[in-house]
Amino acid sequence: MYVLFLGPPGCGKGTQAQHLAETNSFYQLSTGNLLRAEIEAKTELGQKMETLYASGKLVDGDLVLKMVQKVVASEGAKSILFDGFPRTVNQATAFGSFLQSIDKKFDCVFSFSLADSEILDRISGRMTCADCKAVYHTKTNPPKTEDVCDKCEGKLVKRTDDSRESVKLRLEEYHRETEPLKEFYKKENVVFEIDASQSIEAVSKQISNEIEAISKYKGNKEKTSGTYSRR
Ligand SMILES: [Zn+2]
Repeated sequence: MYVLFLGPPGCGKGTQAQHLAETNSFYQLSTGNLLRAEIEAKTELGQKMETLYASGKLVDGDLVLKMVQKVVASEGAKSILFDGFPRTVNQATAFGSFLQSIDKKFDCVFSFSLADSEILDRISGRMTCADCKAVYHTKTNPPKTEDVCDKCEGKLVKRTDDSRESVKLRLEEYHRETEPLKEFYKKENVVFEIDASQSIEAVSKQISNEIEAISKYKGNKEKTSGTYSRR
């Protein structure tokens, strides 16, 4: 099963992705983490990207697409949760053709919505584990010990791009580049809307119920010719 989490920065999809990966053994494909891993491993792709970073340019969409396709090919039949990719309609179109070529598609696109003002408040409290990349929040999802990761005891750090000004810029970019993906996937009838102002528990329950419904549908698909209709 392939699912995509689509939503603005700070809507809680990182936390939900982490949770779903743990509870339903999804492989979590986060392009941010992949990029860092490629750079650390000094692969050809990684070195190209490091050069781009150093020159202050945005990472080329084609390189990201190549990197993701490499991972999807190597993960094979596993369930994959796509977090942060595709980011633009162009990327989604190119990646859609790739998926089609291996006889796959997104089974569900979870579309998270949250007001910009709420996002700005949320992001200012966000922390990430420097080692395992687990995500925490000073108010909504605090670690048991201050600044220490519950899972691996790594140090929790604030991302430098989490300042208010930088978040505003990322939100503008999201509305312009990424939000149109919602309409794009609506045409494929795979969008499941999430009101991200709900509690973490309520959102994760909605997601797991939907995943269960899709699993059931996929399991029955061979036996019946019925069409799965999304509510
Ligand atoms: Zn950790």
